[in-house]
Amino acid sequence: MELRLYDTLTKEKRAFVPLDPANVRMYVCGPTVYDFAHIGNARPVIVFDVLFRLLRHVYGEGHVTYVRNITDVDDKINDRAARDFPGLPLNEAIRKVTEKTANQFHADVAALGCLPPTIEPRATDFVLPRSDGKADMVTLIKQLIARGHAYEAGGEVLFDTQSMPDYGALSGRKLDEQQAGARIAVDAHKKQPTDFVLWKQSSDNEPGWESPWGRGRPGWHIECSAMSAAYLGDVFDIHGGGLDLIFPHHENEIAQSRCAHGTPTMANYWMHNGFLQIEGEKMSKSTGNFVTINELLADWPGEVLRLNMLKTHYRSPIDWTLKGLEESAKTLDDWYWVAADIKSGQPSGAVIEALSDDLNTPQMIASLHGIRNSAASGNDQDRELFASSLRLIGFLSETAAAWNGRKQQASGIDAKQIDSLISDRTAARARKDFKESDRIRDELAAMGVVIKDSKEGTTWEIAR
Ligand code: AMP
Ligand code: ZN
Repeated sequence: MELRLYDTLTKEKRAFVPLDPANVRMYVCGPTVYDFAHIGNARPVIVFDVLFRLLRHVYGEGHVTYVRNITDVDDKINDRAARDFPGLPLNEAIRKVTEKTANQFHADVAALGCLPPTIEPRATDFVLPRSDGKADMVTLIKQLIARGHAYEAGGEVLFDTQSMPDYGALSGRKLDEQQAGARIAVDAHKKQPTDFVLWKQSSDNEPGWESPWGRGRPGWHIECSAMSAAYLGDVFDIHGGGLDLIFPHHENEIAQSRCAHGTPTMANYWMHNGFLQIEGEKMSKSTGNFVTINELLADWPGEVLRLNMLKTHYRSPIDWTLKGLEESAKTLDDWYWVAADIKSGQPSGAVIEALSDDLNTPQMIASLHGIRNSAASGNDQDRELFASSLRLIGFLSETAAAWNGRKQQASGIDAKQIDSLISDRTAARARKDFKESDRIRDELAAMGVVIKDSKEGTTWEIAR
């Protein structure tokens, strides 16, 4: 089956041909760790986790390298550290903020059913030249200066956008247009308004590293150029992130990497997820229309959030609503009911086919509904097909008992009492007292418990 992916750079859906099928290489920009991640931040993590899983299915688990970085140097982190730990030296305070936030992020995205990436580099480990010789930011910046693509001015090192004829190709912004539209008041030390910072000086109370340009710290974009080159090489297969990163972040990553390495491309497929809004409005902290993954996980199982995210194609905007979450929860209850305790076999061809068409998850979910119906009324093979399709894409990580147990807790239902009612009913049925067995079934229904009889016995679940 041919895998086709939409590439933001060439603006077309193309057959995916890896540079090396034995090592398919993907980089996705990770979080800046200063605060809880919100549900919008979860979108690229889930979308590219689905792609990672698909690539592993197609090329083999050991043949995909997925790098997602952690940005642990940023002025927002410094501000948070000073505010939350005013008594501590800044370095220690920063470490506390980044460690705590990174741990929280890991817990959040694991609960969303996302596999850890193959490698998760931290930006601060790639500022200075390394003993293992992997790419680092200072060396990249030196290369850019040596090749005439960067200059020092006003205490900074800046990328010279005019030195790259096709700067702006990813976002479709032409240098000339930008100059014409730019205000004269841009920083006077820049040759062009689009020139961006590679290195800036740090004051004594800011984090800094000794460099050929004095004690300072890197700009944001150069981090990803260094970490992707360190683990994936100068040119790799897929680069991803949310569409707000197209400009300036990814545009500038491309400029730095291509100019430092002298290559015509940085990555062969640039993939961007659309934005998430809540109940029809832009997510915004100031208006209160904002929710963290952590808060949502207090009310919903992570798989419900995951399914709710995948109901929309990754390139379309998502409207995140309570109604949508309730529907996703119902769907998952049903899927657990049908499939949770089934062992895995082969995933369905229809599911792989839908995903292979530029991650068409709405189509995939439509197929899953059909497979569910065959599984519910069909044989073990259909049930295995259904269960293994769900597991492939990160669902059914719990047993049916654990899934139901969580709902019982939430609804305050006593499982022992239900089990005893069910055995009373089984006994009534055995002695053909159908009046009593129906009465017990109605009593259970009134408690919100639905029962299912099969030749293996009677099982039950809580209706939402
Ligand atoms: P940030 O921490 O803001 O750099 O964002 C981390 C990732 O989340 C980036 O890939 C962003 O593009 C993505 N992102 C941020 N906000 C949203 C949103 N509302 N919807 C979808 N993706 C988002
Ligand atoms: Zn990046």
